[in-house]
Amino acid sequence: MIRPQMNLPIYLDNQATTQIDPRVLDAMMPHLTSVYGNAASRSHSFGWAAEQAVETARAQVAKLIGALPKEIVFTSGATESNNLALKGVAEGAREAHPERIPHIVTQATEHNAVLDVCHWLEKQGCRITVLPVGPDGLVDLEALRSAVDDDRPVLISVMFANNEVGTIQPAHEIGALCRELGVLFHTDAAQAAGKVPIDVSRDGIGLLSISGHKLYGPKGVGALYVRRRSPVAEQMHGGGHERGMRSGTLNVPGIVGLGAACELAEAEMNAEAARLGALRDRLRAKLETSLDRVHVNGSLEHRLPGNLNMTFEHVDSETLMMGLKDVAVSSGSACTSAAIQPSHVLRALGLDEEAAHSSLRFGIGRFNTEEEIDFVAERVIDVVRKLRQLSPAYAEMT
Ligand SMILES: *Cc1c(COP(=O)(O)O)cnc(C)c1O
Repeated sequence: MIRPQMNLPIYLDNQATTQIDPRVLDAMMPHLTSVYGNAASRSHSFGWAAEQAVETARAQVAKLIGALPKEIVFTSGATESNNLALKGVAEGAREAHPERIPHIVTQATEHNAVLDVCHWLEKQGCRITVLPVGPDGLVDLEALRSAVDDDRPVLISVMFANNEVGTIQPAHEIGALCRELGVLFHTDAAQAAGKVPIDVSRDGIGLLSISGHKLYGPKGVGALYVRRRSPVAEQMHGGGHERGMRSGTLNVPGIVGLGAACELAEAEMNAEAARLGALRDRLRAKLETSLDRVHVNGSLEHRLPGNLNMTFEHVDSETLMMGLKDVAVSSGSACTSAAIQPSHVLRALGLDEEAAHSSLRFGIGRFNTEEEIDFVAERVIDVVRKLRQLSPAYAEMT
């Protein structure tokens, strides 16, 4: 087993990325060395071996989400999968009905890999509706229904689980509504795949994005599930790989790693969810017992087992993180933390700027232990207390 060095911080940022599982690396190694054929080479055994490995992985990915292998399109990650889904459907709709303005409905706590694509599509002349969420992070199904009644969209894109607050959306209800109205349903499942059960048929999902590095697989590989006969126009033109939907020589080692990661996640999902949920509850209980003026952000009931997002009133989260040098956590989503902007997700849940700047995300994963959680709880309690002693506003209130 590859274990973190004792002198490294404790890694609690598993929603940003995960450590590759050593068993995934073992599956990949031959494909980084001796099995180097091009999966599109049909004339010799090097190509056949690569193609066979890709087809095994395709079946492993499909099985995790209840799809057919031929409905899986390999990509470079969830960002590309989301781009292909949204731009591909918008373009497909334009081609089928040039006289209509394509309408896409999404919601406020999506990852930027959905929201920014929507903003771009809006500039290209599409109509975009961004639905609000409640304080629990859940999308308002009534608002969804009226957005759809008003002008039938070509696509509804609502993430399966959120990367900052872990909220699991009611995918099954959204899927049922989409089915009833004949609207295609896309879901960004980068955080949910391999963590919670997903069944694309049961949940009425037409398009679904997956990322390798969020489920203990390698970075730079992902997949888009595309239900048969979905009108998705290709966004990467070239050799016509992946049913013509995504050209480019296949990343065989990455794809093999993604497949292995999906198979492991499926086999261990229930036990892992129970273990991570218990660690998360342990961390929350310790923090809530020892500190006042702390709040959990987002629903506790509809939540990824490994996610805890908390506001520590009167504490600046950047300063808190500086005091927590031996713990790797995040104050927002990794993709927006380059600029110190309050997280759009926390703002959508109704937090004001100050509360958003006083929040931390703890992402607990496969390789974290109970000892690590206890150590982190102690460190956070200690640093929060020290920082609050320096806060005049806090002193006034107590
Ligand atoms: C990480 C993540 C992405 C981006 O995935 P990449 O594979 O890194 O491109 C998209 N959506 C969500 C919800 C994510 O957590």
